[in-house]
Amino acid sequence: MWIFLNDRFVKREDALISVFDHGFLYGDGIYETLRAYDGRIFMLTQHLARLQRSARLIGLDIPIPEKDWPSLLGDAIARNTLHDAYLRITVSRGTGEIGLDPGLCPKPTVVVIAKPFQAYPPHLFTQGVSLITTSVHRNLATALSPQIKSLNFLNNILAKQEATKAGAFDGIMLNAEGRLTECTTSNIFFVQHGALCTPSVACGILDGITREVVLTLAREQGLKTEESAYTPEALRQAEECFLTNTTMEIMPVRDVDQHLVGSGNPGPVTLSLHKQFRAILDRFLS
Ligand code: PLP
Repeated sequence: MWIFLNDRFVKREDALISVFDHGFLYGDGIYETLRAYDGRIFMLTQHLARLQRSARLIGLDIPIPEKDWPSLLGDAIARNTLHDAYLRITVSRGTGEIGLDPGLCPKPTVVVIAKPFQAYPPHLFTQGVSLITTSVHRNLATALSPQIKSLNFLNNILAKQEATKAGAFDGIMLNAEGRLTECTTSNIFFVQHGALCTPSVACGILDGITREVVLTLAREQGLKTEESAYTPEALRQAEECFLTNTTMEIMPVRDVDQHLVGSGNPGPVTLSLHKQFRAILDRFLS
């Protein structure tokens, strides 16, 4: 396995960073997760734009020019002779003396990991997954914006830990007002009275790239879409529910807090959106 580290590809065993890296010491840094289908990356421009947005929001200058990223990611796929790939870009503040001041770190650390894509077990797509609503709330957007895809991921890790302990696939986090936000690494959608609903960005979520694709597909199918603030009760009344992210695409939800959503089986809107997503995937690859 070849890892890109700062300015070159190195073998996995040589891909080492300092214990003084502020990504390690403080979670000071950002990342993106991307997926390649047969060597072509899903929504590449949007992922790179979000990487730049995260960097801007934490005042970090990524040392690799924006225009060089597509070929760098292409090299990471080719070097590892991958086709269907999982890619992770990590940019940390870099190595510096102990202390919070980013000025202590002269140079960010850049890492690109590319590995074979590990598909989710197929039965999850046919049967749907179980969720719980976690007691861990989503970070307040005014404290640590969920729009920064940051290495400081403890908020989501604590929610995931709670969900796993409860035997669930994932946890839905609420915001301070008790409204739905998102799961630990995915956005949530539900269908009610035939409309496709999802928490608005103002609820304090990461504006997922797959979320945007799904909203576009739904509108193209003539579905009514709604982005608003919802209480957890909305899921009790929902006809269908699903999650979206770059690696899972569209994942049906079977139950929430042990209550079946609709019949519990993946519903017609979920299935038709996923079918459509797959059918026109090519449009989103580069
Ligand atoms: N919400 C969170 C907290 C995430 O970490 C992710 C992706 O990792 C998403 C939503 C979905 O984003 P995307 O569709 O861009 O993969």
